[in-house]
Amino acid sequence: MKTNKALVMRPKSAEEAGTGEIARRMRDILSEIGEDPSREGLVRTPMRYEKALRFLTSGYDTDIDRLVNGALFSVKYDEMVIVKDIEFFSMCEHHLLPFYGKAHVAYLPNEKVIGLSKIPRIVDVFARRLQVQERLTQEVAEKIQEILQPRGVAVICEAQHFCMMMRGVEKQHSGTVTSAMLGAFRTQKETRDEFLSLVDRRRS
Ligand SMILES: [Zn+2]
Repeated sequence: MKTNKALVMRPKSAEEAGTGEIARRMRDILSEIGEDPSREGLVRTPMRYEKALRFLTSGYDTDIDRLVNGALFSVKYDEMVIVKDIEFFSMCEHHLLPFYGKAHVAYLPNEKVIGLSKIPRIVDVFARRLQVQERLTQEVAEKIQEILQPRGVAVICEAQHFCMMMRGVEKQHSGTVTSAMLGAFRTQKETRDEFLSLVDRRRS
């Protein structure tokens, strides 16, 4: 594999490098579970964990208005816009364990549309926080409503939760489905049905 030296040598920002405060506590946690934080395989683990955790919660620091800045367009199009199968990874706030899955997002434009690539970015911003799946679903819907003022927004999230899978609370392949319907998706059955058939949750 070719190494991009410029990338490797780039000085790390404070966020990427972390402050070391999480790593410091992580060494205590490793001891507490009966591990030896000084053994070879674990020596750098606290720093790695801090870096990973800071990345996985970086959604708190993301400015969504800046993210969508310049990606809003005026159009005459008024049919449903739908982005399916947006992969996301989040962490449950009750157990600090991952949950991951797919989000399907639709909206009915009202004079404005957003660049399609921005929708997965918005999902990421809310996924990279401590979450519960219901709130993640709702927050994505409400943010799109706020940004675009469309005639309606629909979000469905399908996810698997490690806190259920690993602890044997649920069968490994059962998933959790949550949805948020705003505007026309809430009030008009035909609109909601069109979205559900386009997403076609029966597949796979
Ligand atoms: Zn959990």
